[in-house]
Amino acid sequence: MRAEAMVSELGAISAEPDRLVRLFLTPEHRRAADRVADWMCKAGLAVSEDALGTVRGRLEGQGKRRLLIGSHIDSVIDAGKYDGVFGVIAGILAAEHCRDKRLPFGIDVLAFGDEEGSRFPVTLSSSSACAGVFKPEMLAQEDRNGVTLADAIKAYGKSPADVPAAAYRLDQAAAYVEVHIEQGPVLEARNLPLGVVTAINGQTYLNAEFLGEAGHAGTVPMRLRRDALAGAAEAILLGETLARESNGAAVATVGRVAVAPGAANVIPGNAVAVFDIRSGDEPARATLVEALKSGLRAIAARRHLGLTVTSTREVATTPCDPHIQDQFADAIRALGTEPLRFGSGAGHDGQAMAKLCPIGMLFVRCRGGISHNPMEYASPRDLGLAVAALIGFIERFEPGRLSG
Ligand SMILES: [Zn+2]
Repeated sequence: MRAEAMVSELGAISAEPDRLVRLFLTPEHRRAADRVADWMCKAGLAVSEDALGTVRGRLEGQGKRRLLIGSHIDSVIDAGKYDGVFGVIAGILAAEHCRDKRLPFGIDVLAFGDEEGSRFPVTLSSSSACAGVFKPEMLAQEDRNGVTLADAIKAYGKSPADVPAAAYRLDQAAAYVEVHIEQGPVLEARNLPLGVVTAINGQTYLNAEFLGEAGHAGTVPMRLRRDALAGAAEAILLGETLARESNGAAVATVGRVAVAPGAANVIPGNAVAVFDIRSGDEPARATLVEALKSGLRAIAARRHLGLTVTSTREVATTPCDPHIQDQFADAIRALGTEPLRFGSGAGHDGQAMAKLCPIGMLFVRCRGGISHNPMEYASPRDLGLAVAALIGFIERFEPGRLSG
């Protein structure tokens, strides 16, 4: 299967011999971008590259409007080989299939370089540039070695002054669509190869800092203690309970806790828990966040702890265009399989592209729902079905009939 071979070829381009690490604007990014550009050329696409290193493969159509098909070629550290890469490859293979079809619209296949945010403390900078929403302050952000994004762009042979020119005009971009492995277990559990994404879920980060009093673990009686970590532990369980009670509408996770002073024989005086709350249903997320905040206050009051709650990230839900969803669903049905519709719990370039035009996404089943892990796997058969569904979508696509 061609897609599988191409995925493996890009998967071999890494900064490290024993695991996949391909960060934004690095020599590995360059090598992967060159490989993608070569494939695009061979598929009959006209290749260019913008200031953020996004590789663009252009297929002319009859109208001036363009269907944008993209995903990313950067990776997390110790990544799987399908995440992002397969969406770019699916776009190239589908565009190649359509090259002699005289479509009523053009196609641009986009290979973004900054979706994971693994190098700089920013993410989606390359798709933001295409969407015309790149924030100039992103240029001052530094990687772990103190290299700014602006300097990395220059080292990559580009100029930060050209970033505005990367933006599509509103009347050019008809829609943006992306094929991506699901990165979750929903399709596998339903025994279905493909799914239609209804929305990219919104997200709230809440930092809850409990302030107690550090003390001797042997001498302070239990009733006199103000244990910050015990308060945080109760808060974490409250988050889990609230999310369970939402009946699938929202998820809540605490993946990081910081405890001070952090000694086995000292009562914790300070504990910070970071809540990651996501939902495709804005009212459900708001309700959960409010219930959690009031629950945190109650826990702190009962335990005589100080409490500071700060929201460090607030990302609204990005809905997928209903008409694009229907066209993907029709294309999947035409392949003899049921199109399951559900929300994406993970973030994607579509969140930035939605600021430009209507978006849609197609999900592909991956084994065990595992992603951001070298164990990531999607079968060659499912990859083939995804490319066929994307082609079916392109054949059904009507730029005039979108809500945006
Ligand atoms: Zn991805």
